[in-house]
Amino acid sequence: MKAQTLKIAGHSVKVYRYNTVIVGSGAAGMNCAVHLYELMVKKGVERPQDRIAIITRGQKLGTSRMSGSDKQTYYKMGTSPYMPDSAEQFSKSLTAGGCTHEDLALAEGIGSLREFYHLVRAGVPFPHDSMGVYVGYKTDHDPYERATSAGPKTSKFMSECLQREAERYGIAVHDHQEVAEFLTAGKMSTGHEGGTPSAHANKMSASHAGGTLAPRIIGVVAMDTSKASGRIALNVFLCENLVLAAGGPGELYKTSVYPAGQVGLHGLALKAGLAAENLTESQFGLASVKFRWNVSGTYMQVVPRIFSTAADGQGDPREFLCGFFPSMSKMASDIFLKGYQWPFDPQRIENHQSSLIDMLVFNETQQGRRVFMDFRENPRPGANFQQYAQEKLEGEALEYLRKAGATQARPIDRLEHMNPLAIEIYREHGIDLHAEPLEIALCAQHHNGGLAVNKWWESSTPHTFVIGEMAGTHGVKRPGGAALNSGQVGGLRAAMYIGNAYGAKVPAEGELSKDAAGQVERLIAKLESYGEARQGLNPSAVIEEIQARVTACGGHIREINKARAALAESIRLYRQIEQSGLRAAKAGDGVKAVQAGHLALTAVALLRAIVAMLEQGAGSRGSHLVLAEDGVEIHPAVVDPASGKPLRFKRENLTLRSSILRIQYDPDRADLFQAQNVPIRQAPTNQKSFEPAWADFREGKVFSE
Ligand SMILES: Cc1cc2nc3c(=O)[nH]c(=O)nc-3n(C[C@H](O)[C@H](O)[C@H](O)COP(=O)(O)OP(=O)(O)OC[C@H]3O[C@@H](n4cnc5c(N)ncnc54)[C@H](O)[C@@H]3O)c2cc1C
Repeated sequence: MKAQTLKIAGHSVKVYRYNTVIVGSGAAGMNCAVHLYELMVKKGVERPQDRIAIITRGQKLGTSRMSGSDKQTYYKMGTSPYMPDSAEQFSKSLTAGGCTHEDLALAEGIGSLREFYHLVRAGVPFPHDSMGVYVGYKTDHDPYERATSAGPKTSKFMSECLQREAERYGIAVHDHQEVAEFLTAGKMSTGHEGGTPSAHANKMSASHAGGTLAPRIIGVVAMDTSKASGRIALNVFLCENLVLAAGGPGELYKTSVYPAGQVGLHGLALKAGLAAENLTESQFGLASVKFRWNVSGTYMQVVPRIFSTAADGQGDPREFLCGFFPSMSKMASDIFLKGYQWPFDPQRIENHQSSLIDMLVFNETQQGRRVFMDFRENPRPGANFQQYAQEKLEGEALEYLRKAGATQARPIDRLEHMNPLAIEIYREHGIDLHAEPLEIALCAQHHNGGLAVNKWWESSTPHTFVIGEMAGTHGVKRPGGAALNSGQVGGLRAAMYIGNAYGAKVPAEGELSKDAAGQVERLIAKLESYGEARQGLNPSAVIEEIQARVTACGGHIREINKARAALAESIRLYRQIEQSGLRAAKAGDGVKAVQAGHLALTAVALLRAIVAMLEQGAGSRGSHLVLAEDGVEIHPAVVDPASGKPLRFKRENLTLRSSILRIQYDPDRADLFQAQNVPIRQAPTNQKSFEPAWADFREGKVFSE
């Protein structure tokens, strides 16, 4: 695709035109590009490769490329020949924790095996047996053995294999592009047009009719970071359809296992008017911090020693867990269970359940101490504890380890036996688990909420789709591995809708409209002002401030007064950025400044949603707990450092499971976002017989239902 060069505000700006622009080259974005290409080919569209482009900050960046665990899980519909499964059962597992749209969950079930075999065909090395069965295992919240894995780097393999397909098809990947702005056309309108909800509002959900339809997004403006000159270099990508696949907002958190620099693009999308859902729901859990990696699965199932030290990482070693458990057997069995009960879960704290370990690790780090796993030793006994002995483990743990043949004397030998790749991944990053302990912390890992989508993964703004982690498709809980399945199905369905309902048109050649050129000019003026500013805020300091606030008040522990104060501070920071700008002192800081601006609004949105949820009387659920003085005691010895009193948490408010908190940007409001509860969309129940279904398919009616 040849670019046109235009002069805007004294800068040469390259303008590209595509039918569909996909932002993000992770597993979700790559998959969508591949499906859309294949669909266009089937429909006889001329040169589909000239109509689709992927725009990305970095092909080797993002969560899919850089994150994983001992055996990173892909949760799909069951493939066992002996255990029947169905899309309906699958969707029940996805919706079990509440606050999940049932049409999305059913679509994820229906599309699951199609997408799994698509990945197999693309070359992802999922293991099968001699009969061709793709063997499964059990993960957290999973009653079936639906999980599979291609090893620690499943999502990396997925995005690499899909990238090879995209390259084979000749789809353009514009690398080193930081999306800084969306170009929009039209005005905000309500969902009611002449008293009737618009067709799109109806598809989104009945309750959206009272909301706002944002202006259409007609393109994105990206900063070209491959140009080292330090001068502003912008590319404009005009499009008929936009697919946002920019991943989760990992940079919101100070303690995080997301890859460093994973900002997401939520702030920009929210500002463009896209609605968001379930922003309150994220997953937190134990992860290594020097090299950011999840320590679930076999890392925990081999039952390593877990201990803490003083801040220097050496002095005053303590077997800190022992004081909180009644026996070695209980403590060691809980360490084992953390393997597949990985996310922190407030419903698994009482009576010495496995999430007590997360709380205790957090408690220790709050006191300025550091926590380590040591695979060279079994857990050491505290006072009055017996020595660790595998035969004393509780039933489930003992049976699993015996079945796996993991009866070796030391955790590292058990790990070597069960999963040598789990040791190898650390070796690749300079950490030898045979020789040194591994530092861990309770980290943010995954955002269950995100931008709201309908059953075709189209956002509240027509022609803009959101897929992968950026889409808010999960509810309060999700089975481990369901994120990757959701990202693939979402990409497929967005491609199907674009290819069938919106067609392959490309924006016409010519000058930019006056309105669009004005938007680019304003972006240039803003970036120039950042470069010249002496007074503006320092972007790195802004990001650090956001991270400290969100981890403290929007992380795995929440309290209404602190959340309100954090929201007020976030709004103040956002408005200060709007008024005084940011300071890009040296080349490259411009990108950081843009990211800080996006993150500042994302933080407001997250905290606004948390406050709205707490004000409705929400309790502890999913992966966070809500503090309450009259709540349940975590453990007599887990105390609030400020008051010295035992920490207590409020139980889940079950009535809130049947609705979803949706927020939408409203600059006229003091708190910047309107918030409302919307009902859960039901899955369609009309089972058509073959002939009418066939007719609807031939006539394309399936895309208007
Ligand atoms: C440690 C860890 C372990 C995990 N384990 C599992 C697991 O076992 N099973 C599971 O299902 N899920 C797991 N997840 C979650 C899962 O890996 C992610 O949800 C998924 O990979 C996200 O894929 P994605 O394509 O949506 O986004 P990403 O892979 O994050 O890709 C985002 C893309 O957007 C680009 N981008 C972002 N912002 C911009 C911008 N402004 N301009 C241009 N480009 C931009 C990035 O460069 C990147 O290419 C895990 C996550 C972590 C952190």
